[in-house]
Amino acid sequence: MDLIEIVCAGMCRYYKPEKEEEVGCGGIEWLKPRPQWLEHLALLSPDEADQLFGLAEDDPRLLAICQTCEFRIDGCDFRDPEVSSDECSPCGGLRALAGLLAVGHDLGDLA
Ligand code: SF4
Repeated sequence: MDLIEIVCAGMCRYYKPEKEEEVGCGGIEWLKPRPQWLEHLALLSPDEADQLFGLAEDDPRLLAICQTCEFRIDGCDFRDPEVSSDECSPCGGLRALAGLLAVGHDLGDLA
């Protein structure tokens, strides 16, 4: 399985298979050059976990990833202060990194 299958198709409610995007969310762009995390991502159970695998929305490691994301300013409800948190969900890329962090992986500098 590749990144798109595991993270986009498996964890992201915004994923549209018919729409190919050159740039991914912050989480996907962080993971692309780090294929060593694929096997760990495949072990997560996103359907059984909550949105961020128990991590807080304002966890600084997750905020750091969102800071790098091209969709944050104009295209992400989850980080839009005008959208209440019960009306939106994090993207799959952020969920994927939250899942890795939640099981104790050290992802180093996420900025
Ligand atoms: S939650 Fe929003 S800002 Fe954060 S990585 Fe996903 S799309 Fe980007």
